[in-house]
Amino acid sequence: MTENSGGAPLVRLEGVNKHFGPLHVLRDIELSVGRGEVVVVIGPSGSGKSTLCRVINRLETIDGGSIVFDGQELPAEGRALARLRSEVGMVFQSFNLFSHKTILENVTLGPVRVRKVSRQQAEQRGMELLERVGIASQAGKYPAQLSGGQQQRAAIARALAMDPKMILFDEPTSALDPEMVQEVLDVMTGLARDGMTMMVVTHEMGFARRAANRVVFMADGQIVEEGEPSEFFTQPSTERARDFLSKIL
Ligand code: ADP
Ligand code: MG
Repeated sequence: MTENSGGAPLVRLEGVNKHFGPLHVLRDIELSVGRGEVVVVIGPSGSGKSTLCRVINRLETIDGGSIVFDGQELPAEGRALARLRSEVGMVFQSFNLFSHKTILENVTLGPVRVRKVSRQQAEQRGMELLERVGIASQAGKYPAQLSGGQQQRAAIARALAMDPKMILFDEPTSALDPEMVQEVLDVMTGLARDGMTMMVVTHEMGFARRAANRVVFMADGQIVEEGEPSEFFTQPSTERARDFLSKIL
């Protein structure tokens, strides 16, 4: 969890703006994430957190500013875009597993198709990853046969299978029954400890305190405040952040 251990940040957003029609959803975003850094993004619904994640792996385009990932401006299309997507893992609230494929197939699909890894190799690595997230015994089942927590851990294993340089988590525990939240957060905390670069949109403040190097608070498309968790949670400097924290803590 060392901050900026590799010198230049892994991803840097400068003056990033994004509109949806008349709606200005990202306003002059300045944000860097260092290698191995864990940044937790919080803020009210509609503040632009998901859009922030989506512009980083170019699921959305931006209409102003620049995003540099691993030393290169985000590619617009073609092979470079495919490579970017494989280097930036994404874990969504809704798991997004392929329902007609087994858990192991979900995990091996990317490496076999995109990385041209042999099936045997992909399966061996896939089983190791399922082991790591604690669901190796579920490998041959289909997503619907697993609990929500197990499905989300499978989604994390699938992201890891591509050897991403960074993983974006967009409210990964929001769709889970309460008793399954911790098992997913525990896997994420393990990744953070192992040095994975992560941006995590979450309302789980316990996770933020334990695992985050930095908390970024967004409102109305802007970064209103950011700081180390210990500082941010005990003495937020803006009224907006104080107000938000009083509602969720
Ligand atoms: P958050 O994740 O913080 O709840 P979002 O990034 O999802 O916020 O959304 C920010 C704003 O952009 C919201 O007002 C939302 O309704 C709007 N928005 C998000 N995606 C789209 C889209 N594809 N088309 C139009 N408006 C969108
Ligand atoms: Mg969202």
